[in-house]
Amino acid sequence: MMSGIRKRNLPNAKTPADAQVISTCIRCGTCCRKGGPAFHHADKHLIEEGIIESRYLYTIRKGELAYDNVKGCMIPADSDIIKLKGQDDSWACIFFDENQTACRIYADRPVECKALQCWNTSEVEKIYTKNRLTRADLMSEIEGLWDLLEDHQCRCDYDTIHKLVKALNGAHKKKARQRLIEIIQYDIEIRKLVVARAGLDADMMDFLFGRPLRITIKNYGIRVRQSGKKIILMPSTRRSAPC
Ligand code: SF4
Repeated sequence: MMSGIRKRNLPNAKTPADAQVISTCIRCGTCCRKGGPAFHHADKHLIEEGIIESRYLYTIRKGELAYDNVKGCMIPADSDIIKLKGQDDSWACIFFDENQTACRIYADRPVECKALQCWNTSEVEKIYTKNRLTRADLMSEIEGLWDLLEDHQCRCDYDTIHKLVKALNGAHKKKARQRLIEIIQYDIEIRKLVVARAGLDADMMDFLFGRPLRITIKNYGIRVRQSGKKIILMPSTRRSAPC
C-alpha cells in the first residue's frame, strides 16, 4: 500500500483511459477480494461477544514470516496478528458476498475495514501496526488452554525454525532435519489432540495454534510431504522474498 490519493482502475475499466479518480467508496469489493483485515484492540468485543466467531479467524504467530501490506514484502511478525480467513478458493475475505458485492457483517466490520479507503490509504496506514489484538488479549485467562498455547508457541517458535532451516545446509544438517520434523509432527498432533480430547471445533485450530507449520514452512523454502505419519522435507520452489 502506498500513501496518498490515487488513480485506480475500476473493475469494469478495460483500458488505462477508463481509469477514474475516485474519492468515495463505490463498494466495488476490490479491497475485500484482496483478503480480510487484521484485528485490533477496538475489535476485541466482536470476538468476545461472538459477533465474529473464532472459527472464522486465523493467527499469524509472533516471529512468523508474513506479508506486510504497507511495506509490500515479507517480514517476521512482531506480535500475533489475528486475521479473518479467506474463502476456500480465493484470498477474498470470508465475509465477502460475491453475488451481492457486499460485506455480510458490514455494521460490525473490524476497524481496518472502516479505516480503509482504497483511494487514500493514509488512514489505515496510521493504525495498521498499532494496538494489534493478540491471542493473549483473548485467552490468557482461560486456564489450561492458555498454558497449552504458550507451550506450543515455545516448542514451535519461528526463530528456532528459521535457524533449523538455515542449518539444513550446514555440518549438522541431519540433526536439524530431525528437529524440524519433530516440531512439525508436534504441531500436527496437538491440533488433532485438542479436537479429539477437548471437543473443540477443528475450524478453530488455525486461530488457537496459528497456521499449520506444514503450510507456513513453505515461506522458508521447505515443502512438507506426508506419508501416513511420516514426514518428508523437500526443497520448495515457493520461497517468499523477505524485505
Ligand atoms: S469484513 Fe467485510 S468489509 Fe472487511 S474485508 Fe471482510 S467483507 Fe470486506
